[in-house]
Amino acid sequence: MGMRIGQGVDAHCFVSGRPLVLGGVRIEHAQGLAAHSDGDVVIHALCDALLGAAALGDIGRHFPDDEDQYAGIDSRLLLRRVMAVLRERGLGVGNVDLTVIAQRPRLAPYIAAMTQALAGELHCPAERVSVKATTTERMGFTGRGEGIAAMAVVLLDET
Ligand code: MG
Repeated sequence: MGMRIGQGVDAHCFVSGRPLVLGGVRIEHAQGLAAHSDGDVVIHALCDALLGAAALGDIGRHFPDDEDQYAGIDSRLLLRRVMAVLRERGLGVGNVDLTVIAQRPRLAPYIAAMTQALAGELHCPAERVSVKATTTERMGFTGRGEGIAAMAVVLLDET
């Protein structure tokens, strides 16, 4: 078999009074994302892609959003648990390609920090982690600034 591909998608809406965290990095913005966890939509999409590649369900199955233990949780901890599950099954990350869809804030200044943070969690070199950001030209819920969406594609290697 050798390699396994997975994809993940997530979206959360903006709310006031919460910090904005994307890809494990704190982003300067007036609003954060509503969620049971810290709302890191990038890590959620990434976790779903990793679990999908392993055919192990999704983030909601592994970390139910009605369980108190996950309230406000740092999503990097969820990613660490997903990586531990993959490691048990002899699966490592080949490469990752992420797209963050947001009209605002401007994410270019944070891309390098997100790449480094995620590569560390994925136990792979930063050259194998791609983080991209796009707007939707003011169309749709992201374009109107109602929230942020993220898409992830990963390739896993069977080690
Ligand atoms: Mg989510």
